[in-house]
Amino acid sequence: KSMDYLFSPPDVVSVPVVGQQARFPIHRIYCVGRNYEEHAKEMGFTGREPPFFFCKPGDAQSVVAVPADQIVDIPYPSLTQNFHHEIELVVAIGQGGVNIPEASALNHVFGYAVGLDMTRRDLQFKMREQGRPWEIGKAFDHSAPVGVLHRRAETGDVSLAHITLTVNGEVRQQSQLTHLIWSVAETIANLSTLFALQPGDLVFTGTPEGVGPVVP
Ligand code: MN
Repeated sequence: KSMDYLFSPPDVVSVPVVGQQARFPIHRIYCVGRNYEEHAKEMGFTGREPPFFFCKPGDAQSVVAVPADQIVDIPYPSLTQNFHHEIELVVAIGQGGVNIPEASALNHVFGYAVGLDMTRRDLQFKMREQGRPWEIGKAFDHSAPVGVLHRRAETGDVSLAHITLTVNGEVRQQSQLTHLIWSVAETIANLSTLFALQPGDLVFTGTPEGVGPVVP
């Protein structure tokens, strides 16, 4: 028997999976901050500080599912003059858990995608300077474009993969996953000491150096 609600609850937000009909339903979005030394440096740190976590909403206002080989527009957000791209490896959690050991952490991974941790950099910095939370810089509407998911069973080990972002054909960000300060396994192990991971969680694993502005 269906539940009676005051208004229609939101639809489930999901991303497509390469090679299968069923889509991956999104639960939460966790993000790793300063997980590449060279990016930490360009943000004004030494790169020796441990990474940390923040969140974006996993709802339809935040997530932009980008189908394969398609161009998807996102609106230029309000109240910023410095809207930045951050290209990131996105890890999709298929099996939840708490206190997950690093050695078995990859067994919890359903698959991988690329995503953009779009950032209102000016607002993020303003909040940072004031010791305030980052939501207005990081967790705004349309701030989490995510590409199609590739099942881990198909990709195998991605630890040697390269990650690149171009803007109108110009390479802006280029690195490789060997430069992650916390590997995917270490990230999952760390995150699962703080939150009970659930199937459907996405983890944006941090961006390499070369972040910069996009314009309308
Ligand atoms: Mn980021």
